[in-house]
Amino acid sequence: MGDPRRRVPRTDVLLTHPRLAEAERVLGRALVKSVIAQAQQRARAGEIEPEQVAEHAVAALPPTAASLRPVVNATGVVVHTNLGRAPLSRAALDAVVTAGRATDVEFDLATGRRARRGRGALVALARAVPAAGGVHVVNNNAAALLLTALTLAPGKEIVLSRGELVEIGDGFRIPELLESAGSRLREVGTTNRTSLRDYADALGPETGFVLKIHPSNFQVTGFTSAVEVAELAKLEVPLVVDIGSGLLAPHPVLPDEPDAATVLRDGADLVTASGDKLLGGPQAGLLFGDAGLIERLRRHPAARALRVDKLTLAALEATVAGPPPPVAQALTGDVAGLRARARRLAERLPEARAVDCVAAVGGGGAPGVELPSAGVSLPEAYAAALRTGTPPVVGRLEGGRCVLDLRTVAPEEDELLVTAVLACSS
Ligand SMILES: *Cc1c(COP(=O)(O)O)cnc(C)c1O
Repeated sequence: MGDPRRRVPRTDVLLTHPRLAEAERVLGRALVKSVIAQAQQRARAGEIEPEQVAEHAVAALPPTAASLRPVVNATGVVVHTNLGRAPLSRAALDAVVTAGRATDVEFDLATGRRARRGRGALVALARAVPAAGGVHVVNNNAAALLLTALTLAPGKEIVLSRGELVEIGDGFRIPELLESAGSRLREVGTTNRTSLRDYADALGPETGFVLKIHPSNFQVTGFTSAVEVAELAKLEVPLVVDIGSGLLAPHPVLPDEPDAATVLRDGADLVTASGDKLLGGPQAGLLFGDAGLIERLRRHPAARALRVDKLTLAALEATVAGPPPPVAQALTGDVAGLRARARRLAERLPEARAVDCVAAVGGGGAPGVELPSAGVSLPEAYAAALRTGTPPVVGRLEGGRCVLDLRTVAPEEDELLVTAVLACSS
């Protein structure tokens, strides 16, 4: 037989294998060649027979050219940061696919001239928040704050409460972000209490604007006080409010969460928010407010570096103008419906029982809010098996059990859950 390494098939020969040739069209030559190289290496190392190289390469092909995989979020955390925050609605996904081709994002088909970029998304946002004189969209809420500081407070002071010096996550802090724009922070009040007097005393010729930041990922309780937007609006400087979550109007389930319409009506000059938290859309930074201020932001040179892609504009428009996205459905879904689904699933799954549980809003805001929920409870060992299955299902560990919380699972995904759990139990 000779040295088996001599019998390892050559790459050009393997690339003519029907399944690998087909994969080359879908995944690209480089990716298929790297999979082939790994299989050849295993044959040379004696782990597999040379005759098995093609078969092993086929088995190791990734399903798509991108490595991101669709995951079922059964964590009960509605806006899960590590799972990409808000999942898009069907309408938004369709809009993304359409916009991914050549599209009239910045072109007027009637006249053949250049048109305002992303006007459909801007019109949808303006309709949703009639109190806003102007609307602008940037890469994320951090970019919205950066552009605001660059435009309204270069070399000047931003006045904000010591109770609102927020770290967003992954080590990023809003105060440091604002300083990176060349603004100075003028902190007022204390961690637990800040009064209108504290703000008023800090104002002067150096003031760029007053900033109020919603504490969206923590709570301070006990002897506390903060100044309402309507009070701050009486100060004679621009008032910028970072509401974080992206609610455009008051939400019945989250009465303590600020929304753009109310904050503008209370007198804020500018509101900033995220697109991929409670709004339920793509990553984006939304700016609503005084038409003149919005125009200044839009014309700042840095605006170009912070602008959004056509895919984002498409998804945002479909989220705002289209049917309620998954986040909205997860927030309002009634618990009786979730219990009924849990019972039906548990009947079909060995070792499972239907349970009541508690879901959370998550990175999107509303810290401390508990959403009554229901799900199926499985032995703990299922957690890892489900996470590494196809599709991956991410549940929550609770009291030594793996709980699949149905508040964050779309009803259309129930069959996927059944398949995934049965694959683990066999
Ligand atoms: C989440 C959040 C941010 C950061 O928003 P991104 O869209 O992630 O940049 C800023 N401010 C507040 C209050 C937030 O909740």
